[in-house]
Amino acid sequence: MTLPYSTEPRTWDVIVAGGGTAGAIAGIAAARAGARVLVVEALGSLGGTGTNAWVTPLMRNVSAGQNLNRGLTDELKARLRARGDGATDAGGNDNWFNPEGLKVVLEQMLLEAGGEVLYHTQVVAPLVAEAQPTAHRAPPPAHLTALVLHNKGGLQAFHAGVFIDATGDADVVARAGSPFHAGDEDGVHQAMSLRFTLAGVETGRLTAFLGEHGQPQASPDFLHFWMVWGWNSSLEPLFREAVTAGVLEERDGDYFQGFSVPGRPGEISFNCPRIRADLNDGANPWHLSAAQTDGRAAIDRLTAFCRRYFPGCEAAYIGTVAPMVGVRETRRIVGEYTLTVEDILDCRRFPDSICRNHYPVDIHSVKGGARLLHERDGTAPYFAPDAYHEIPYRALVPVGLRNVLVPGRAASSTFEAQSAIRVQQNCHTMGEATGIAAAWAARDHGGEVRGVDVAALQAEMRRLGHVI
Ligand SMILES: Cc1cc2nc3c(=O)[nH]c(=O)nc-3n(C[C@H](O)[C@H](O)[C@H](O)COP(=O)(O)OP(=O)(O)OC[C@H]3O[C@@H](n4cnc5c(N)ncnc54)[C@H](O)[C@@H]3O)c2cc1C
Repeated sequence: MTLPYSTEPRTWDVIVAGGGTAGAIAGIAAARAGARVLVVEALGSLGGTGTNAWVTPLMRNVSAGQNLNRGLTDELKARLRARGDGATDAGGNDNWFNPEGLKVVLEQMLLEAGGEVLYHTQVVAPLVAEAQPTAHRAPPPAHLTALVLHNKGGLQAFHAGVFIDATGDADVVARAGSPFHAGDEDGVHQAMSLRFTLAGVETGRLTAFLGEHGQPQASPDFLHFWMVWGWNSSLEPLFREAVTAGVLEERDGDYFQGFSVPGRPGEISFNCPRIRADLNDGANPWHLSAAQTDGRAAIDRLTAFCRRYFPGCEAAYIGTVAPMVGVRETRRIVGEYTLTVEDILDCRRFPDSICRNHYPVDIHSVKGGARLLHERDGTAPYFAPDAYHEIPYRALVPVGLRNVLVPGRAASSTFEAQSAIRVQQNCHTMGEATGIAAAWAARDHGGEVRGVDVAALQAEMRRLGHVI
């Protein structure tokens, strides 16, 4: 039987596994650096958690009044604003965006750069070349030759010189047999959330209500309101009343947060519901599936709550339930360097820095509440308003593999450190660094990512607008 598409074997310089927050940017950067690039994505659009899990806005990462993530992040924001899908508020925060617009912008940027994308395709496992031990030393890091993919065409092996594992879960690294960390000291992960939107909201009336109830808003176009049990939110009495009335369950108040979305008037994006505590492993297919069910039921309760208790929401309806469960943390590679919370608190600098961060340690714990290490909490150098720490290139290089890089939330870091560096803008910058490095490794070093001249990479990133 002949299949109506080409099954000719093809090879690329760089294959990016997962076209999400870091992976899409990595693909664009690698293509702009001259590589033949394929981005393989399980779903039908780029952007990952920032689009398909509907995580908006970008969290701020500012030090001394300056945004620490530049380069392609700046270009994304400019393109989003130009099409009405991005906005800057009166306080100068330019991180507001519409996830549906971001899907379009990322795809345009990848294709314009000459990159290719293969949607609806799952990365199954890498093919690993046999390492050749010598008489005198341990085997060198293993070399991946291909990724086995699954899609409507069946199982296929796609070859490349360098692979970027941007699956968020380090799927490629884990299946290559390389070590990884997962969860906290007990193996317990941060909470997952299934994000959703309510459309048909009269935002003027909602704004007035929030103002009268202790959460004044600068503008009805940039709403941000929240409630977490025990965090002194002015909306807590309302939640208590709703729990007593049987509209909400107690756990619906573990984390509740709403945001405006540019380009979508009358729509509010919610950073909730939080998924049941025992379902916390996003790399466990049963947890992931049950999270969808659990989240949908909670969205139904939260919708009823908003309609009943928030003026302006009486006729609101569910606009979107994110097609992807929001997963904060699963596997994290063991890299050539593992970033720690001490590195963060001490504002550690690294000679091979590729990114600066001042976003706080932010753990959505399933062991009770949430934890945010914030300026007001301490006197460590990190808490100064002009502080930042750096992320080294080595944190993106998995031990035991010679032609693989891992940007994004699976970068090598402890549980606490990951909770700080995982925000989207850092994932962009890590993605951009790995995209350029992968293109250079494929072109000049036979795929060896440790062969890349990191000083030249830093100079190139500065040329592209980064502050590193
Ligand atoms: C609920 C929630 C709220 C958050 N809030 C904020 C916030 O307000 N602002 C902020 O800046 N950050 C926030 N974050 C953090 C941030 O969004 C994520 O850490 C970041 O987007 C992760 O980026 P990534 O590239 O590592 O992974 P992802 O963006 O998740 O990308 C992984 C991609 O790989 C694909 N993929 C996975 N496995 C495979 C496979 N085997 N084969 C093929 N494709 C695969 C996925 O479909 C996805 O597209 C939040 C996270 C969550 C979960």
